[in-house]
Amino acid sequence: MHVKYLPMRWKTGDNYCYVLSDDATKKSWLIDPAYPSDILPYLKTENKTEVEAIVNTHHHYDHSGGNADLLKLYKNIPVIAGKDSPNVTHTPKHGEVLKLGDNVQITAIHTPCHTQDSICYFAQDTKTGEKAVFTGDTLFISGCGRFFEGNGAEMQAALQRLMDLPDSTKVYPGHEYTLSNVKFSKTVLGPNNKALKELEDYCLKHEVVTGAFTVADEKLFNPFVRLTDPEVIKSTKESDPVSVMDKLRQMKNNF
Ligand SMILES: [Zn+2]
Repeated sequence: MHVKYLPMRWKTGDNYCYVLSDDATKKSWLIDPAYPSDILPYLKTENKTEVEAIVNTHHHYDHSGGNADLLKLYKNIPVIAGKDSPNVTHTPKHGEVLKLGDNVQITAIHTPCHTQDSICYFAQDTKTGEKAVFTGDTLFISGCGRFFEGNGAEMQAALQRLMDLPDSTKVYPGHEYTLSNVKFSKTVLGPNNKALKELEDYCLKHEVVTGAFTVADEKLFNPFVRLTDPEVIKSTKESDPVSVMDKLRQMKNNF
């Protein structure tokens, strides 16, 4: 399978759209194609792919705002998303498996908290073994989304579902927030976290971090999945994992 990231609103924002394609058939999903003008030149010139579906990780406009305009171009294709996205035609159940082309298998993972309709998509190439997860605004590299429609217990459960995926799964979040997340994570995880130091070095050399790190890396450098790390407990002055999660989010919001 092939994952192409397309930066959207790159001068004013930091959103990613992803084009997930099956190697054999070139059929593709457009994941969070919110700003068609940032995406269509690629689809028309470089990658004349057959778009099979529009897919949203959640209903926020900077993820779903392109659905209506894209449907005018790609008529009668499904819009796969949670219940609150515009033009949605199919909301997969938690654990439902969808197919793209010959070799890509995608499992829907419900992760309610940032929004109640948040769904992450875990893609596996059955031929090459490659694995990727599209995490929207639930999981960021070394961070997580704000709890707009949920609470700490829900985010803990959501992130646990993602951490239960195979360690080699590459993480593709909805925004490029890595550098600012690293600044916060350093204050929480302390100076001795080697993986976080390596992530910081990577960020200083690369504007784009998406897809460069895996679920295994998140377990090392993301404080929001390290709720029992003694450094995190020390920083939050909480010990119950849900209280640690709530406190971390509160600290990040005020950082
Ligand atoms: Zn959002």
